Amino acid sequence: MMYDKIIIRYGDLAMKGRNRGMFEKRMLQQLQLRLKDFAALTYSRMFGRLYINLNGENYALIAERVKDIFGISTFSPVVSVQPELEEIRAAALALMKAMEQEPATFKVSAKRAWKKFPHTSQEMNHLVGAHVLRAMENLKVDVRGPEVELKVDIQEEAAYIFNEVVNGPGGFPFGTNGKAMLLLSGGIDSPVAGWMAMRKGLELEAVHFHSYPFTSEKAKEKVIELAKRLSYYSGAPLKLHLVPFTEVQTTLAQSGQDPLIITLMRRAMLRITERLAEINHAHGIVTGESLGQVASQTLVSMDVIGRATVLPLLKPLVMMDKQEIINEAERLGTFATSILPYEDCCTLFLPKSPSIKPNLRFVEKVEGYLNQQKNLEQLLDEAVKQTEVLLLTPEDPEPEASAGEDRWF
Ligand code: ATP
Ligand code: MG
Repeated sequence: MMYDKIIIRYGDLAMKGRNRGMFEKRMLQQLQLRLKDFAALTYSRMFGRLYINLNGENYALIAERVKDIFGISTFSPVVSVQPELEEIRAAALALMKAMEQEPATFKVSAKRAWKKFPHTSQEMNHLVGAHVLRAMENLKVDVRGPEVELKVDIQEEAAYIFNEVVNGPGGFPFGTNGKAMLLLSGGIDSPVAGWMAMRKGLELEAVHFHSYPFTSEKAKEKVIELAKRLSYYSGAPLKLHLVPFTEVQTTLAQSGQDPLIITLMRRAMLRITERLAEINHAHGIVTGESLGQVASQTLVSMDVIGRATVLPLLKPLVMMDKQEIINEAERLGTFATSILPYEDCCTLFLPKSPSIKPNLRFVEKVEGYLNQQKNLEQLLDEAVKQTEVLLLTPEDPEPEASAGEDRWF
């Protein structure tokens, strides 16, 4: 193709006022990092826009990556020429002729940002349109619903001609809004929640609770797979904390409060995660909860569970329908992994009728009893100490354990 640049546009960024410079810098760093295999690329920043100069690199391969980079609202491959009528006309025609399928209708939408250019936007629509029409016999103008809208953006430094506008994920560049811990189960929801949190500019560390030997190696591999997928989207290695939860769970089960087991487990998870957050300088906890989905996700349950931590609980899916979440999971490439049928630590202990309306005072009383009789707090500390940490990247076929090699299997 004839494109020589990609225009990168950012949405949320535009609103950041004073922080704008910092965000733009991070955006550029992200592009450079994610596209480092394409050695010939260069970058330029002009009037609040970013341009990738292709210098002969393959546009399609680059677009495939650019479309997933957080902070980008849309991007367009463009032909750039001197801001001069004949050059613009020639480029517009060449672009129309290079299209894989010759369109039947088109229109030109010119925009003169550089006011010293001698023709107005309206004039340019005609001047460029007429030139193209003269050369392409079968083509007609349709201003209402054209097959191709040929855009001509006239700036002082260059004129940009393009017709394609591709959507990026939007949001903020990765890591520009601080760090949070992601509670990552092997299910459908939490990976989607993780992606949404990262899109908002959050750096994440994932935390997974397992009940080895009650849960299998397969279950662990599944979570690793999901974490790797998330690290593809962030373009950065993702830390995965694997917390041994068996002791805590069996102790909670000894409370004899069957309907409250899930409530107690979730509160214990939050307490452990809060400690991990402090050690790792994170300031929030992201979960995949969605209102009303299961007993532990009624509003009353969320209230009682949430009081176990003072950290902000971020729940990107809270108001979404299951089908919407599934669609997202499919789009992100996590769905197929998420539905693999391996036991989760919580399903093992799932009571027959979990409480949908736990009572905070009573829950606290049960925990007080467990602390006194069974050293619950100490067990939580112990779980933190025994936590295994993996550093995952999308490329790594076999991630290496960074602590406690054989503790698991
Ligand atoms: P998911 O599809 O993410 O598993 P879910 O709809 O199955 O969610 P629950 O199993 O009730 O709902 O879990 C609610 C949230 O609690 C999850 O989205 C996740 O953030 C967290 N969570 C549940 N189990 C675990 C686990 N074993 N390790 C880490 N986090 C967990
Ligand atoms: Mg689950």
